[in-house]
Amino acid sequence: MHFFGNLLAKGSGINFMVFQITFFALFGMIIGSFMNAVIYRFPRKISISKSRSHCPSCDKLIYWYENIPVLSYIFLRGKCSGCGAGISIQYPLVELISGVASVLLMPKIVDGITILHYVFYFTVFECFLALFIIDVRHKLLPNALNIYLALIFGSYGLMQFPISHVVYGGAIGLLFPLGFTYAFYLVRGKIGLGGGDIKLWGALGLYLGIKGIIFNIFFSCFLGSIIGVAWIALKRIDKGQAIPFGPFILVISFLQIYFPAEFQALTRLVVGF
Ligand SMILES: [Zn+2]
Repeated sequence: MHFFGNLLAKGSGINFMVFQITFFALFGMIIGSFMNAVIYRFPRKISISKSRSHCPSCDKLIYWYENIPVLSYIFLRGKCSGCGAGISIQYPLVELISGVASVLLMPKIVDGITILHYVFYFTVFECFLALFIIDVRHKLLPNALNIYLALIFGSYGLMQFPISHVVYGGAIGLLFPLGFTYAFYLVRGKIGLGGGDIKLWGALGLYLGIKGIIFNIFFSCFLGSIIGVAWIALKRIDKGQAIPFGPFILVISFLQIYFPAEFQALTRLVVGF
């Protein structure tokens, strides 16, 4: 399945198309709104089932009409109605990106199978988005999201590929970076990679398989070193300071999962197969 192209679906009548796009856009934005709560609560160890949201500055209860994706941010002019504290642009952006992604991934013809594919691609995208922001802001990848990804990659992987692809991919994704980190620890006496990164690779391996996960490790380390060196050169960070590694893993897996043909062309160019 690909981004783009789905919008060009033919045959179902223009009114139905408008309805379908509206439905998928609204659904995507509602999930985006939920992911905003995940992004805020998971790193702070606040339960997602804890009922209502409060303003982080003045603790004012956020009413349902102040919690409408994108629209509320506009009519509140980006400020809390209680204390006037600024609301991060991240909130409407996550909702907007989720709405757009949902429409781009929308199936042409809606049935049980296409909805299953849509749920896979859309929820994986939402997890990637949440993990990316949480890692940049807090330098951690919450276990709950890694476990969710492992479940969805494992079950979807088993439907698409032979069992060996899933099992060996997951094992290599977990053990290869773990061994590397241990070797690094023995030589340098410090921990190189975070546990969250290793668990994320384990989950991704279930879907990407052996070759895919090795490519992911290779390309994300490559991307991470380029950006890391550039960041140090630009004096944005000090040499000893850690930069979150999750975003590099996520960018490479995003390409592998949503643009497989383009990624394959890229790997042929770089490594020759
Ligand atoms: Zn407030």
